[in-house]
Amino acid sequence: KTVCVTGASGFIASWLVKFLLERGYTVKASVRDPNNPKKTGHLLALDGAKERLHLFKADLLEAGSFDAAIDGCEGVFHTASPFFYRAADPQAELIDPALKGTLNVLGACAKASSVKRVVLTSSVAAVIISRRPKTPDVVVDETWFSDPELARDMKLWYVLSKTLAEGAAWKFAREKGIDLVTINPALVVGPLLQPTLNTSAAAILDIVNGAKTYPNSTMGWINVKDVAVAHIQAFEIPSANGRYCLVERVAHYSEVVEILRKLYPTLQLPEKCSDDGPHTPVYQVSKEKAKSLGINFISLEESVKETVESLKEKDHFC
Ligand code: NDP
Repeated sequence: KTVCVTGASGFIASWLVKFLLERGYTVKASVRDPNNPKKTGHLLALDGAKERLHLFKADLLEAGSFDAAIDGCEGVFHTASPFFYRAADPQAELIDPALKGTLNVLGACAKASSVKRVVLTSSVAAVIISRRPKTPDVVVDETWFSDPELARDMKLWYVLSKTLAEGAAWKFAREKGIDLVTINPALVVGPLLQPTLNTSAAAILDIVNGAKTYPNSTMGWINVKDVAVAHIQAFEIPSANGRYCLVERVAHYSEVVEILRKLYPTLQLPEKCSDDGPHTPVYQVSKEKAKSLGINFISLEESVKETVESLKEKDHFC
């Protein structure tokens, strides 16, 4: 079977490509710069790549850019989307590529009669940002949708980009009769296959690399291998449908620091929170739907350890 992975050089997509090749798929992989070995070297070195990995150049903002990569594929995994927090021009750098890019990719899917299902990498960012209270007894699930107006008011541009992109994807899929499934992961950690540093692995690197304080922030956390497997299961299991939240555990940064302290007692870790206010509360995220994809959930402890070991190995520590 032939499938397409957009944004193949990224953190999540690299694991997705690896697992797809291991399962025997032929993978048409879109990258922005096929001639940059930092973006493609690790992909071309994967088992099976020589025989079954094909690189295509595509940019989210170029109309028709994905047509060649998607034509002839049964499954399309659309992972490409900018993920960073500081943007000088949020519309141009985050919102346009996420939103127009998703419609560009889905447009190519609508044209290709071979495409049976599209799996979109959305985010819990498109789930949890709303005025609904989040406290330890609240269980967030796939029926929750982020409020784009609130994201805009709070200047959470990445959240806004993912919320608008997922909303537009569902609307387009309904109109064009596309079988769409979304994966909505929390902050993704675990080993890096790519040599460059991605935003979510940087969340761990920032703590272990001499930070004086840790953020007063509570996040959901999930291992990158679970995220990649969930994408493939969402394509392979015929009854898979709708959205799938992927959160192993919701934890305040202080808990992550405690995990790191146990794992690495000699490491210099921040002692204090970035502000004196109460810690932002934890909440729960339902695992029920994700379990139906066969996800076992690698523990946060294991994920943190894998991230640190990988950051060391790839020389990201100062
Ligand atoms: P990476 O930054 O590693 O990957 C992002 C990918 O998007 C890269 O391959 C990048 O290409 C590509 N991309 C960005 N802009 C464009 C563009 N204009 N045209 C074509 N490709 C583009 O991040 P992740 O692997 O973490 O993210 C992958 C997906 O997962 C994104 O959709 C993200 O929103 C989502 N996600 C990530 C989470 C996380 O914690 N990591 C959590 C929840 C969702 P290039 O390599 O050329 O820069």
